[in-house]
Amino acid sequence: MSSFKVLSVVSEVFPLVKTGGLADVAGALPAALGRHGVETRTLIPGYPTVMAALGHRETVHRFDDLFGGPATLLDGKAGGLDLFVIDAPHLYDRPGGPYMGPDGLDWADNARRFAALGAVASGVGLGLVPGFVPDIVHAHDWQAGLAPAYLYYAGTRRPGTVMTIHNIAFQGQFPAHDFPMLGLPPHAFGLHGVEYYGMVGYLKAGLQLADRLTTVSPGYAGEILLPDAGMGLDGLLNARSHLLTGILNGLDEAGWNPATDTLIAKPFDAKSLKTRVANKVALKEAFGLDADPEALLFGVVSRLSWQKGLDLLADSLDTLLGLGAQLVLLGAGDADLAGRFAGAAHVHPGRIGVQLGYDEGVAHRIQAGADMLIVPSRFEPCGLTQLSALRYGALPLVARVGGLADTVIDVNEMARSAGVGTGIQFSPVTTPALQMALKRAAGLWRDQALWQKLQRNAMATDVSWERAARQYDTLFRTLAAERAA
Ligand code: ADP
Repeated sequence: MSSFKVLSVVSEVFPLVKTGGLADVAGALPAALGRHGVETRTLIPGYPTVMAALGHRETVHRFDDLFGGPATLLDGKAGGLDLFVIDAPHLYDRPGGPYMGPDGLDWADNARRFAALGAVASGVGLGLVPGFVPDIVHAHDWQAGLAPAYLYYAGTRRPGTVMTIHNIAFQGQFPAHDFPMLGLPPHAFGLHGVEYYGMVGYLKAGLQLADRLTTVSPGYAGEILLPDAGMGLDGLLNARSHLLTGILNGLDEAGWNPATDTLIAKPFDAKSLKTRVANKVALKEAFGLDADPEALLFGVVSRLSWQKGLDLLADSLDTLLGLGAQLVLLGAGDADLAGRFAGAAHVHPGRIGVQLGYDEGVAHRIQAGADMLIVPSRFEPCGLTQLSALRYGALPLVARVGGLADTVIDVNEMARSAGVGTGIQFSPVTTPALQMALKRAAGLWRDQALWQKLQRNAMATDVSWERAARQYDTLFRTLAAERAA
């Protein structure tokens, strides 16, 4: 019997190209599903980094004209993943990131670049590569949103389609004059198709036309049905809420394992928390902080953006310092926020250390060395940094939203008496509430026996992909069986 096949359609995948958690998920899910007998192929644009990583490759299809130029579909492996790569130099062979040029502006032809991704996904779904005809096409985020649309309008026997929302804030909206370029039937430009407030909406299209919808935590699945978090798509999601489920992400446990991590000063586990202290010492040294062994060390590893709520932390630095605590921050993004934190580090050397930019190694060293990881997000579909923090014994201090609320157990009185707390939650997501949480943290820190108990709880949390893989597997197989019937 042939295996169950899934085509994962995505615009970034770890370790080949990553701007956020989406890449981590797309990179980890195939192996976890593999343990359930699911064979996944990942369809990805042929950006320079992907092309460079691709070893042996086979051409499985040639397009004379794929949205403005010739292209080939390649079958190959890279980064431990089985890939289909769209080698379309006119769309993807350029310097810069997957969505933006080196100038930080979105590529002007993103509509075309990701229409190609959706169209090729649909092609593979309909049998373009005879050796791999998927049972399910799994589209991730707006960049893949047209895949379910092309399949829907193909009007022929097709695989089941699943649209996963990793972040509803990014919706991929383009002017109506881009519609003819897509090659969809004219009636697709309507309320029940790809049209969205007079524009073409790629995420909207996927959410409207896929057979099943998922998002990356049960908490976020509930929140996006409401206007605030739904960001304009809540009406549509309410109409289709019977098809929507939240499946919590897991963590890449091989990549994030404190016992084997070669990026940190000294590997450790829950039984050797004393060894963990060596990582705190090394981290403080690297950031030029005072040795002050009694001080509570907070950490941040984040994109610097409005979503992540770090302006609340920037407004709370006096509180943090007043508690005798220290802060190390690694962040990339918003220039204003970066400037505020860099300025604070300048004014308070020895107490606040800041590194701007993206650095995988430093991210690991903060998780291994900080006592607490602060994640004050205004919204958080799932969040991965609090999961790695749990695994590394950096207690998460999080806003009570989305996946953060689902993954961190607040050490309130009852949790404490039940012995189950793993961190601190605060709500509402405001500066005063964050400041209260910092004070609570300092209170807990004074009880080191309790603190270590919380660390052991945190490190024992099941953050594996196994739970998620089971749920995706059931969803995929149920849908495929439904379509076959
Ligand atoms: P998002 O996808 O919204 O950025 P997540 O918490 O889901 O947030 O995933 C963020 C991922 O990116 C984590 O793996 C985290 O370690 C990593 N990361 C975020 N910022 C940085 C940075 N400045 N340097 C290195 N890694 C980072």
